Amino acid sequence: MQHDELSNEMRKGRFIVRVEQLSKNYYLGRTIVPALRGVNLEVKRGEFVALMGPSGSGKSTFMNLLGCLDRPTSGNYLLDGVQVSKMNSNQLADIRNHKIGFVFQSFNLLSWMSALDNVELPLVYSGASRAERLWRAERALAMVGLKSRARHRPTELSGGQQQRVAIARALVTSPSLFLADEPTGNLDSQTNKQIMAILQGLNARGLTVILVTHDADIASYAHRQVKFRDGRIISDTDTARWTSVTPEAPNQAVSIVGAQLIAPGFPPNSSAGAQLIAPGFPPNDIDPTKQVTS
Ligand code: ADP
Ligand code: MG
Repeated sequence: MQHDELSNEMRKGRFIVRVEQLSKNYYLGRTIVPALRGVNLEVKRGEFVALMGPSGSGKSTFMNLLGCLDRPTSGNYLLDGVQVSKMNSNQLADIRNHKIGFVFQSFNLLSWMSALDNVELPLVYSGASRAERLWRAERALAMVGLKSRARHRPTELSGGQQQRVAIARALVTSPSLFLADEPTGNLDSQTNKQIMAILQGLNARGLTVILVTHDADIASYAHRQVKFRDGRIISDTDTARWTSVTPEAPNQAVSIVGAQLIAPGFPPNSSAGAQLIAPGFPPNDIDPTKQVTS
């Protein structure tokens, strides 16, 4: 890590997410639906967190707040040291574009565009040149093992491949925080393993990942499991072990040797020692030894 990055780190602190007493009510006519009731959570840079809990417990509501897609009714949210809970919608859009990558259960790809054009789209809003958009989109597709499918349209791709395109689209802006709300919900178990191997690989290279799942096997890829019920957090396995170089997860698809956490921003500015030993990652045409520059 270079000196200026290091001092930047120290200024911003070690938490990418700090949430205090976050509440969200929905209003349906005269009915108030209290979807979140005072959630507190801190997530360190480089963590891989799974949010679990029954349907209706507030997971998606919470993710939408973390992803700056919505504003809380009350409470504080500091993203990367910046108070975002009271920002207006333009400011939130700006934060989303620069800091957040979001993947949903439905892939939300534009069917008439190629994979490459879909991945490029977030960069159109950031004013990047055509050439820069192209190489960044190609690199993001390579990171999910789909460089060879760049010209394919979503309908010419399998569900798992479409989700990988959606992941590439979420990565193309080099976000500091990667959010995935049930990304494996529509896929078969073999494809799920591939998707999780990709997320695990990205996390091993320094990206902070927060994932919603109701599947315990999927959650075991994360280093920390947080459970929701009725709009509250009821348990959190937060441990100091997340920096461990050997993941404890029984279903681990990759072993990580000497992984260093490089944040903020992803991909990291240096290849700083993160080594991935497949199986499953990188899928097809990713070369993990290649230096990734942002
Ligand atoms: P989960 O993702 O854990 O299934 P959600 O966050 O989607 O839970 O929902 C939490 C609660 O808020 C549920 O009772 C749900 O019906 C309600 N809810 C979610 N979105 C809306 C909305 N847009 N309008 C009204 N109620 C909503
Ligand atoms: Mg949900």
